[in-house]
Amino acid sequence: MKKQLPKQKPVELTPIKSESEQSLGPVPTPVNPEKRIGYALVGLGHLTLEELLPAFGSCKYSKPVALVSGDPEKAKKVADQYGIPSENIYNYDNFDSIKDNTDIDAVYIVLPNGMHEEFTIRAAKAGKHVLCEKPMANSVEEAKNMIAACKKANKKLMIAYRIQYEPHNRLAQKWAREKKFGKVKLIESINTQEIGDPKQWRLDKKLGGNGALADIGIYCLNTVRFLLGEEPEEVLASAYSTPGDKRFEEVEEAVLFQLKFPSGTRANCSTSYGVHQAQRYFCYGDDGGWFGLDPAFAYVRLQMKASHAEEDMELAIQPDLGEKNQFALEIDHMSLCIVEDKQPYTPGEEGLQDHIIIEAIYESARTGKPVKLKSTGELDIFRGSEPE
Ligand code: NAD
Repeated sequence: MKKQLPKQKPVELTPIKSESEQSLGPVPTPVNPEKRIGYALVGLGHLTLEELLPAFGSCKYSKPVALVSGDPEKAKKVADQYGIPSENIYNYDNFDSIKDNTDIDAVYIVLPNGMHEEFTIRAAKAGKHVLCEKPMANSVEEAKNMIAACKKANKKLMIAYRIQYEPHNRLAQKWAREKKFGKVKLIESINTQEIGDPKQWRLDKKLGGNGALADIGIYCLNTVRFLLGEEPEEVLASAYSTPGDKRFEEVEEAVLFQLKFPSGTRANCSTSYGVHQAQRYFCYGDDGGWFGLDPAFAYVRLQMKASHAEEDMELAIQPDLGEKNQFALEIDHMSLCIVEDKQPYTPGEEGLQDHIIIEAIYESARTGKPVKLKSTGELDIFRGSEPE
């Protein structure tokens, strides 16, 4: 039976502070857990245990109801921590039997990238909606197969681009679109981290797909596209790996890439697995100011910064919208789309477009020449319904 999320009004409380003080927003309106959308989390690694399961505590419409893991002991322990019944623990072999479990409305795929395609297709065949971690897949072809499988099963497919649901990044998008400091003509973005364990799946081409670009450089690419709403018409890139560094025998260490957009905006992006963590972007306008976030892609404590000219001064401002759990916002968006039968803001098509551009970036890095992309004209062409 199709689930409904009852619409609720917040409980009204008498304000304590004056209207001139910053508002913290209305009292939250969580839905009774019985009525929420139930998720099976597939893969119990760092992201699931450190971020996603705790984030369900901040969700209004979503709850974890099942776990899928290759390690029964770990799964039992985690299930106990989150009150998930032991009969709702699955492994990678019996995963397909989730089709008989009516507690599970959707699966959240949090496996190594090279396994996203297989588990998306199996989940769709089992009649479940799919929320899949970034990068969507290892190639354009795999991404297309995932979209086709979910379409065929008439199930939603959303890619977990959490940045597109995070309030500071959404404010930056608004400022870019409204031309707060004029037209954004130049964007610079960087996402780097020093990668440790040389045996981890991220450095294995079959499981990781590619190196820094597909794993973390994708944040620069996806966020620049989200800020502007445009699609790049040309890319120019170079890639390198430190000679002799055993970590980068199968995948690249670093990629530097430029994106040229139809309206004339240029973005200059860098990503690397070989230097200390940096996660930022800045947008430079042609009418008296710039803005951006540093850090932009972190899980918490994002900081928005802007600087603009006023009379004889250069004014620095730091807009602070408070701390919201971006994973919870993203998961709840998926739940609303399921209940209201809407296309998610970041559907499979949004993930596919990143893969098309990523493949063009690698081609440019290989050939040393710019690579042209199909121009799309309209803004936000791949995005679905706006988040709440
Ligand atoms: P992780 O290595 O911590 O967890 C991966 C899980 O997959 C582990 O539980 C592991 O046991 C399981 N697994 C199953 N088969 C495996 C195999 N053959 N080899 C290795 N592991 C296997 O990884 P993670 O950091 O949790 O990343 C998982 C996914 O989430 C990736 O797609 C990654 O890109 C994405 N991710 C997204 C964010 C974000 O901010 N949205 C952050 C980190 C990771």
